[in-house]
Amino acid sequence: MAKGLKQGVAKLVNDQDRELADLPVHEPGNQAGLRDKFWELPLTSLTSREWEALCDGCARCCLHKLQDEDDDLELYYTRVVCQYLDEDTCQCRHYQTRQQLVPDCLVMDPEILEEAVDWMPSTCAYKLRYYGKPLEDWHPLIAGNRRLMDERDISVTGKVIPDSHVSEDGIEEHIIRWVSH
Ligand code: SF4
Ligand code: SF4
Repeated sequence: MAKGLKQGVAKLVNDQDRELADLPVHEPGNQAGLRDKFWELPLTSLTSREWEALCDGCARCCLHKLQDEDDDLELYYTRVVCQYLDEDTCQCRHYQTRQQLVPDCLVMDPEILEEAVDWMPSTCAYKLRYYGKPLEDWHPLIAGNRRLMDERDISVTGKVIPDSHVSEDGIEEHIIRWVSH
């Protein structure tokens, strides 16, 4: 089964797919001055600061993904992560200039979310709220800190390999199951 999967999982089909399936990102924002339980409000009503603060900082969206040309473009997450991610903090080391460094790195906003929601991680706060679901109990906004999130092993810390260490052809060797979409 693994062999078939590896054979079938391949390159992104075209440039548009590459844009959609590569590297979006977000960083948690400063949470001072935000509305009470803003995360329960419709996404479209959030201020830009509330939008930023919704991010759980898992960095799963900084993982490379592959689409299977032979299986209806099924998408797979890999443990290969953008080289600019600080794995320990799950923060982008070049947040201000990330789009110059990584053109595929998307600035997540409501319009981009509409396009990207299908392949965002199933745990992503934006995806959950897009579908009208509540945040997970481990989300730092609900739990009050990152302890539960760490206990549930949600962030990518300790489980990834930078893309600077992996050839493009070798990415499919790193498909993972601990992130789904
Ligand atoms: S540039 Fe930064 S935000 Fe963008 S994918 Fe890489 S680590 Fe993530
Ligand atoms: S997957 Fe969603 S919640 Fe996690 S870092 Fe990316 S945008 Fe934020």
